[in-house]
Amino acid sequence: MIPITTVHFGKAEEDLVLEVLRSGSIAQGPKVAQFENRFAELFGVSHAVAVNNGTTALVAALQVLDLQPGDEVITSPFTFVATLNAILQTGATATFADIHADDFNVDSASVAARITDRTKVLLPVHLYGQMADMGPLETLAADNDLRIVEDAAQSHGATYRGRYAGSYGLGTFSFYATKNITTGEGGMITTNDAVLADRLRVLRNQGMRARYAYEMAGNNYRLTDLQAALGIPQLERYATIVKARQHNAERLIEGLADIPGIITPRQLDQREHVWHQFTIRVTEDAHVGRDEFVQGLAERGVGSGVYYPKLVFDYDAFRSHTRVKQSEVPVAAQIVREVVSLPVHTALSDADITEIVSAVRAVVGA
Ligand SMILES: *Cc1c(COP(=O)(O)O)cnc(C)c1O
Repeated sequence: MIPITTVHFGKAEEDLVLEVLRSGSIAQGPKVAQFENRFAELFGVSHAVAVNNGTTALVAALQVLDLQPGDEVITSPFTFVATLNAILQTGATATFADIHADDFNVDSASVAARITDRTKVLLPVHLYGQMADMGPLETLAADNDLRIVEDAAQSHGATYRGRYAGSYGLGTFSFYATKNITTGEGGMITTNDAVLADRLRVLRNQGMRARYAYEMAGNNYRLTDLQAALGIPQLERYATIVKARQHNAERLIEGLADIPGIITPRQLDQREHVWHQFTIRVTEDAHVGRDEFVQGLAERGVGSGVYYPKLVFDYDAFRSHTRVKQSEVPVAAQIVREVVSLPVHTALSDADITEIVSAVRAVVGA
C-alpha cells in the first residue's frame, strides 16, 4: 500500500531530542525560542510565536484582536473544522465566502459580498499548500478596516507574489503529524506587528509578563522544547522537502493529463505551491463516482483521502448554531463532492508515482 501520508525523522531529530532529554529542561525553553527564530527568518516575518497546536494558534490570533460578541469573521467553507471551532471559541460569528475552483481558496468577490458593518476579520485558508488570492483580500481589508488572519496550517513556506504565507497580518501554522513540518502536535503564529507578537507571548503563558504578573486573562498554549527539537531540523531541510513534493506533483500532473473526468491541480501564476496535498477533482465525466474511485484506488494499493467531504458548516452541530451563518456557496458545494487527494509526500519513489498514475487510469478506465 502506498500511504497518503508518512512521517520521516532523521538522525538530526534524534540527536536534538536526546540533547533536550538529557538537558533536564523539557518544557518551553531555549529550543522553542530557536524554533521560533528560525521559522521567522525562513518564512520572511519579524515574529513567530510557538503554541501547542494549529487550532490554538488560530484561537490565540483571534483573541489578541479583541473580538467582541457579534463581530463577524469571514472564512472559507472548504476547510478543516478547526478553522470554524477557533472562531466560535472566541465568541465571534462565522460567515462563509465561496471559493475558486482553480485554487480551492476563498473568492475575493464573494468575500466582498459578505462584508457587513459587524465584520472584523478576513480569515482566508491557504488550502493544500497554495495561498489564497491575497492581493484583492488585502485591498478589501484596507478599505474596510479589517484584520487579516491567515490559516496557513497546510502552507508553510508558500508564497504569493513573492510574499510568504503568514505575512499579511497574523498567520497561523500547524505541526500536526500529517503536516509538511511536524512536531506531533504543535503550532506557530506569525506577524510583522511587534505589539501583537508581544501580546501573543503573554497570552500563551497564562497572561503572565513575569511570574504572577498577570496582564490579561490567558491560557496555557505553550509548546515544549522536546517538540521544538523535532521541528528545528525539518526547518533546516525544508527546501529539500518542498522540492521533493514539487517534483512529485509535477510527475503526477504529467501522468494524469488528459483523462476524461479527472481535473489535476495546478500552481497558479505568481504563487509557489508547497503541495501539502495533491488534490484532483473526479467530475461527472469520469463515469465512476468519487467513492467508487477511492475504493478502486485502495484495491490497487494506493491510499487516498477526501479533504473535505462536506462544507464545514453543513453538519447538525453547526446548522443549529446561532453564530454559524449558513451561506450560499455553490462552487464549494460542488467541489466537496469531487475532491480526492493522492499521495505526494517525500517518501514516494518515481516507481510509486508510476503506480499511482496506473491505478488512477485503471479505475476510471482510461
Ligand atoms: C491541521 C489544520 C488546522 C489545525 O491544526 P491542529 O494542529 O491539528 O490543531 C487548522 N486548519 C487547517 C486548514 C488544518 O489543515
